Amino acid sequence: MLQVLNHIEYSFIIYSLNISHCTLALKFNKRMKKTLSAFAITLGLLSTSAFAQKVSYEVAVPEPHTHYCEIKVTVEDAKKKHIDFTLPTWAPGSYLIREFSKGVEQENAVDATGKPLKVEKVTKNTWRVHTDNSNKVTFSYKVYAFELSVRTSFIDASHAFLSSSGIFVFPVEMEKLPSTLTVKPHSSWKQISTGLSPVGNDKFVLAVPNYDILADSPIELGNQDILTFTAAGVRHEVAFWGGGNYDPASITKHMAKIVEETASIFGENPNTQKPFDHYTFIVHNPSRGGGGLEHLNSTVLQNSRWGYGGSGLTNFLSLVAHEYFHLWNVKRLRPKPLGGFDYSNENYTRMLWFAEGVTSYYDNLITRRAGYMEESKYIDEIINTMSNHENAAGSKVQSIGEASFDAWIKFYRPNENSKNSTVSYYTSGAMAGALLDLEIMGATEGKKCLDDVMRYMYQEYYKKLDRGYSEEELQKACELIAGKPLTIFKHIYSTTPINYEYYLNFAGIKLQKVTDTRTPNLGTNLSDEDGRIIVKSVAKGTAGYDGGLNVNDEIIAIDGNRMPSASFANSYVAGQDVGQEIEVLVSRDNLIIPFKIKLAPEGKTGFRFARNSDATATQELIFKQWTGGKK
Ligand SMILES: [Zn+2]
Repeated sequence: MLQVLNHIEYSFIIYSLNISHCTLALKFNKRMKKTLSAFAITLGLLSTSAFAQKVSYEVAVPEPHTHYCEIKVTVEDAKKKHIDFTLPTWAPGSYLIREFSKGVEQENAVDATGKPLKVEKVTKNTWRVHTDNSNKVTFSYKVYAFELSVRTSFIDASHAFLSSSGIFVFPVEMEKLPSTLTVKPHSSWKQISTGLSPVGNDKFVLAVPNYDILADSPIELGNQDILTFTAAGVRHEVAFWGGGNYDPASITKHMAKIVEETASIFGENPNTQKPFDHYTFIVHNPSRGGGGLEHLNSTVLQNSRWGYGGSGLTNFLSLVAHEYFHLWNVKRLRPKPLGGFDYSNENYTRMLWFAEGVTSYYDNLITRRAGYMEESKYIDEIINTMSNHENAAGSKVQSIGEASFDAWIKFYRPNENSKNSTVSYYTSGAMAGALLDLEIMGATEGKKCLDDVMRYMYQEYYKKLDRGYSEEELQKACELIAGKPLTIFKHIYSTTPINYEYYLNFAGIKLQKVTDTRTPNLGTNLSDEDGRIIVKSVAKGTAGYDGGLNVNDEIIAIDGNRMPSASFANSYVAGQDVGQEIEVLVSRDNLIIPFKIKLAPEGKTGFRFARNSDATATQELIFKQWTGGKK
């Protein structure tokens, strides 16, 4: 992030003095009032001690089959009685406290002569090393890594994926120092893929501009397939692990198109700016899986091994577009709390709907603009975000802004009642993005759109002001581009019902709502488990909910008929009449209980779009732009 990069030079001064950033700013201002010569002398004194402290890292994977890596962090000339080493509890971009320190073991410390130093654990994720006045301290530990996901680390005989925020500790108050990372892979492994750049000719010795960049640079080690391409003026590397049916000859061409399309929205690629000189895609292809996590100049993607053909390719490219869009939105253009991270605690913001939801809106839009998605499919995806929001019982309870704030305790910790009490800031945020885009286009008769907001905010808050934005600033920026107040914000920060017709009319679209009133449904999600039918969730306001069914109930019989499977039970209910009463025999904690349930339709509303036959030229223009035509 730029706020980090711009501060590198004087950050040496800050940390050599062991005072906080705010304190330095205060002192700096006071000094400004003094004479120029005194100021110059002061700066001279500061800079002589600027390079005093040194930090270096080493990670080794000598026995990958044990799932351990070995880390050493060496600090020189700290001039401290003790040094605290802290491991993050979470991975930026994935808003859940994951307690990475649970994988740490065998912590030790030695001085320059190898003499053991006292290590004291002072919090769940901080170790205090007593220096005994030594000028050189090495803190070492092992990390157990056996969870393959985009935000956790995994090591086995075939490869090592190091999700750096869960692997590397930082010496407290030295986070801004530059350092080096020496990687010692298993002797049979020849490849390394990461956003970090080598110091010299040895690709396993990496330059680390500061800890934020280290924590934001995952590392793939092994014998992965590496493909390269250049797009938007940047060298891109794609590391595939796990095999799969991707076509090496064409996949990079497709990815390059997505990269160019994404960069064209912002007009420049931050990977051309120091200290970055390339971008890395680390792609894991397990037999099943999906998802991605954004980083400063890299990303980790997970795609199913055989998911690169047909619609699978479109989905993969949409994932590429999502994570690449994050290069601007979130990694640089960001809500205030998401930068200068507190690595030990939750970092709260009500704006994940913009950071994540609008990114989700753009992932399909970019894929469509790049020519990989049909107009009808694209429109279907947008309709789905609207009908999902409308049909989710949780959208009447939790606003999209609240869903963002509570991501840490709700979205990332779902339970059986989540659908009744929460909305997704991803899908509902994408829906809000689609309506925001329409409202801006409507306000400007198609002259401006959300692209203009993204470009403006990137220039204003990242490049010019070099900081995150507030809720007020985000709304102000959108309204500045629109030239008038926008109504969509009240729907984002409250549960006020949305008048979709108002927004869709800007594009000459009529909304048709279709509600099935004839097919009864219990409103339960049933699952077959060991020959039993188990209730997994019960939607609020449905026949099953009002009739008393609970999660974990086993459905044995309906109206005296033994139910052999979940699908049979669902179709039995669908074959009855609305208003009819049925008897459902349930086993609840091994007690047999009969329930009389009056059947009702589930009440879900399907959305359909229709074009206005007498649409104006402006409405036609907006329709074209909104459905993926370029501005
Ligand atoms: Zn995302």
